[in-house]
Amino acid sequence: MIANLIATLVEEDLAEDDGVLAPDDRLTCHVHGRWIHQCVASPLHVNPVTRHRWCRGCDAELGVVVDELSGDVAMRCPRCGCGGSAATNRLIAACRASISARRAA
Ligand SMILES: [Zn+2]
Ligand SMILES: [Zn+2]
Repeated sequence: MIANLIATLVEEDLAEDDGVLAPDDRLTCHVHGRWIHQCVASPLHVNPVTRHRWCRGCDAELGVVVDELSGDVAMRCPRCGCGGSAATNRLIAACRASISARRAA
């Protein structure tokens, strides 16, 4: 539901400003105004410094597969087939949580 998305966005913006919520743990995206799993495939969610959706070995963006039905999310480097990092794992966890949050709405 849209109302639930907006309420969650506002809540997370405030919690982030208060320093009690890490950007990585957000279920919504304040740039795109959507649930994180709905816009994580955007190039804006790639960060070579923090290694969110980035394969350092190949210097490449990780591809994203989001299955809203099963709730599964995968991010893999198109070149080597892996390319994981702690930042990417956290992003995947946030996407899985945002799929369930959206379902609960
Ligand atoms: Zn976004
Ligand atoms: Zn790679």
